[in-house]
Amino acid sequence: MTGSGHSFTPIAVTRDVLLQPSDFGDGVGIDSKRLVARIPAGMTLSEVNEHLALAGFALINMGDITAQTMAGSISTSTHGTGLAFTGLAGQVEGFGLVTADGTHMDCSASEHPDVWRLGRVALGALGILTYVDMRIVPTFRLHAVEEPRRLDDVLSNFDRIITSTDHFEFYWIPHTRWALTKTNTRTQDQAQPRPRVGRWWNKTVMENYAFGAVCAAGRVAPSLIPRLATALPSSGRQEFTEASHTVFATRRLVKFHEMEYSIPRQHLVTALQHVVDAVERSNLKISFPVEVRVTGPDDVPLSTSFGRESAYIAVHMYKGMPYERYFRMVEEILSTFEGRPHWGKIHFQSAETLRSRYEHFDAFREIRERLDPNGVFLNEYVERVLGA
Ligand SMILES: Cc1cc2nc3c(=O)[nH]c(=O)nc-3n(C[C@H](O)[C@H](O)[C@H](O)COP(=O)(O)OP(=O)(O)OC[C@H]3O[C@@H](n4cnc5c(N)ncnc54)[C@H](O)[C@@H]3O)c2cc1C
Repeated sequence: MTGSGHSFTPIAVTRDVLLQPSDFGDGVGIDSKRLVARIPAGMTLSEVNEHLALAGFALINMGDITAQTMAGSISTSTHGTGLAFTGLAGQVEGFGLVTADGTHMDCSASEHPDVWRLGRVALGALGILTYVDMRIVPTFRLHAVEEPRRLDDVLSNFDRIITSTDHFEFYWIPHTRWALTKTNTRTQDQAQPRPRVGRWWNKTVMENYAFGAVCAAGRVAPSLIPRLATALPSSGRQEFTEASHTVFATRRLVKFHEMEYSIPRQHLVTALQHVVDAVERSNLKISFPVEVRVTGPDDVPLSTSFGRESAYIAVHMYKGMPYERYFRMVEEILSTFEGRPHWGKIHFQSAETLRSRYEHFDAFREIRERLDPNGVFLNEYVERVLGA
């Protein structure tokens, strides 16, 4: 089963039959009393946002793009940031699932609870999701402050910042001691949107075309990257208040490879310091910032934040530049901090190394075996990470 094909891993790649879930309906059913929306599995998050906003509702939290499908995003444990919030799978009330023998099951905490519990992050391995019931909230706005700050200042105040802010994230710029920070506070205050031209200039020109040009120059002449990197913190400070979904997600036009690890949040400062030191000691030239986010714990067995407050460290490399040495170096560091890789982003783990990182790994394997004994929904990647 494939969604929008936005995973960096070959999680939705097969040499066999590939299904695209474009025809599971085009409407969103809203139960405004229970605050639950029934969303067709193949609908993209950007469409979901539009439907919900028209009805006066919104998703509780989300990641930084909206091209993914509803099913694809929960299946890989896609998340945004905010210690009081979970990733998308933690907001799932129920789902419809067609299993390998053709049975359609409605799964929730009361119906087929074992399938519901384990199936919210399932790597496409349990069957075809047809709809997802998501918890929603009335529309809200985010007051956003985006500004460069000294990395040391961010790290020495990290615990205070993430416990006192709704949604905080930062990007450390390799080869500098600077971080670009984003602080989003939930509010019902009047909107104070960015002027259209300013928004276009910052989000399209600066964050995409200008940044893309810097990356492209760095690819041609990697030795220039440290000098080019010093230009990034000069992006200046921005403050605005807009509808939540227009702030959480932005357009990403620059192509890259990515690896992301979740670690227990109390290890973030030490772990990131190790990454910074390792990058500085190496002769790697990295034009893409390193992203840091946090989420609260959830109860989804294969979620990267199952059972623990989590911090996420994501490393990126511009397309066409070798990434393996960098990613392996960071993976080795984060593995020592009980790191769990994002299922949809590059990593080099297998079932053997992942099993001890998930308490209910074997329970997931058992239910997969029970629902799909002939491996109809398996592919090479899923076999590798589940040992199926
Ligand atoms: C530019 C960019 C930005 C990103 N930002 C973030 C971010 O902020 N946070 C984050 O956590 N991740 C992020 N990601 C990763 C992305 O959210 C995940 O890889 C997500 O799974 C992609 O969704 P998709 O619809 O493209 O699914 P695909 O990649 O197509 O598939 C992912 C999985 O979902 C399964 N699947 C899809 N549809 C169904 C279905 N109907 N039934 C059963 N299984 C199904 C597939 O079999 C596969 O296992 C980003 C990726 C990109 C490229």
